[in-house]
Amino acid sequence: MEFLPFALPDITDQEKRAVMDALESNWVTTGPKTKELEAKFAAAVGGKHGIAMNSCTAALHLALEAIGVRAGDEVIVPTLTFAASAEVVRYLDAKPVLVDVLPGDHTMDPKAVERAITPKTKAIMPVHFGGQACDMDPIMELARARKIPVIEDAAHSFPTYYKGKMVGSIGDITCFSFYATKTITTGEGGMAVTNNDAWAERMRIMCLHGISKDAWKRYTAEGSWYYEIIAPGYKYNLTDIASALGLVQLSRVQEMLEKRRKIARAYTEAFKDNPAIELLDVRDFDSHAWHLFVIKLRDGVLSIDRNKFIEELKALGIGTSVHFIPLHMHPYYRDTYGYKPEDFPVALECFKRSISLPIYSKMTEADTARVLDAVSGLVKRFRN
Ligand SMILES: *Cc1c(COP(=O)(O)O)cnc(C)c1O
Repeated sequence: MEFLPFALPDITDQEKRAVMDALESNWVTTGPKTKELEAKFAAAVGGKHGIAMNSCTAALHLALEAIGVRAGDEVIVPTLTFAASAEVVRYLDAKPVLVDVLPGDHTMDPKAVERAITPKTKAIMPVHFGGQACDMDPIMELARARKIPVIEDAAHSFPTYYKGKMVGSIGDITCFSFYATKTITTGEGGMAVTNNDAWAERMRIMCLHGISKDAWKRYTAEGSWYYEIIAPGYKYNLTDIASALGLVQLSRVQEMLEKRRKIARAYTEAFKDNPAIELLDVRDFDSHAWHLFVIKLRDGVLSIDRNKFIEELKALGIGTSVHFIPLHMHPYYRDTYGYKPEDFPVALECFKRSISLPIYSKMTEADTARVLDAVSGLVKRFRN
C-alpha cells in the first residue's frame, strides 16, 4: 500500500501558471507580486502593514529587532514550540525565558507568563499551537498593563479567529509562515503583519540590507541608483516567484481550509469516545485553522507507548509527526540554561503522549478513512 505522507503542499495548475507568469515577466526577485501579496495578506488578517520575508523565522527575528529587543533582554516563549520561536531571541543576544503550556490546548499558560515577567522582559511571544489561537485576552491584559509588546508566532494560524478577531489583528506584530507544510505555502516564505508604522518601516528596511527607502525599486524606471545604508540589515526578502505562488494560495485559502475541516471533523467523530485517545480542547471548531490534528494516548490503556504507536502507523503506511519536542529538552537550551525535563511538567506530558496525524487538503476521503481505521485498529489490537 502506498505511503501516506504526514504533509503535502496543495499546488494546482493555477499556481504553476502564476509562477510561469512571474518568470516570464522577467521580474523574479522582490517586486510587484510581492507588494501585492503584502497588501492582500495584511488585508486578509485585518492588519495595516504586511512585510513579506523569506521565512516566518526571519519575520520573528525582525519583529523582535524592530521593537528594540537587545542583548540581555528577556523574551517569554512557550517551551512547546518549534526551534524558530526561541532561536530568534538568541540572534539578538537576548534570553528566551521558557514557560509551560496549558494541557487542554498546548498554548502558553497565562499564569506562567505572569510569573516569568521581570523588569528585563521586552516581549511576550504566544504561539498559536496547531492553528487554534491562544487565549489572548489574559495575555494582552498582562502585556498592556506593563507596556510589553506581544509578538505572535502565527506560523500555524492562517486563517484563525479569536473571539471574532483574526489572528494578525490582535497583538503588536504577528508573524506567519508559508513554509512547505503550512496552511498556505510559497515553498519558503513568511509575513510580518502590524498596525505600527514605525515598526513596519524598520522591518522593511532591515529585511533588505538596512537600505532606506524602497530598496527593491532601484532597478525600476522610478528608482534611482542612489541608496543609503542606515543599519547592518539582513537578506530576508521574498521573491516574486514565491509571491506569485502565494497569491494563488491566498485566493484558495478557504477552499483548502474546508477540506482540512472535514478531516478534523471525521477524526473528532471517530476518536472522541475512544478510551485510549484524548483530543485537544477546541474552543470553536470553525475558528481553528486546522494546521495540526494532535491525538494524545492515555496512560495505561495500551500495551504500547507513543513511539511504538508511531512505528505501527508507519508500518501501515501512515506518516505522522510530533509537535513538539519541548525546547527545554534540547541540548542547546538544556545545557545553556540548565533546564531539566520536569521543569515544565505539562509540556513534558503533552510531548510524551502526542501524535500529529496527517491533515491537509490533498488528502482524499479514502486517505482519511485509512488513517481512522489504522488508529482505531491499533487501539483494538494493543488494548490492555
Ligand atoms: C514552521 C514554524 C516556524 C518557522 O516557519 P518558517 O517559515 O519555516 O521559518 C515558526 N514557528 C512555528 C511554531 C512553526 O511551526
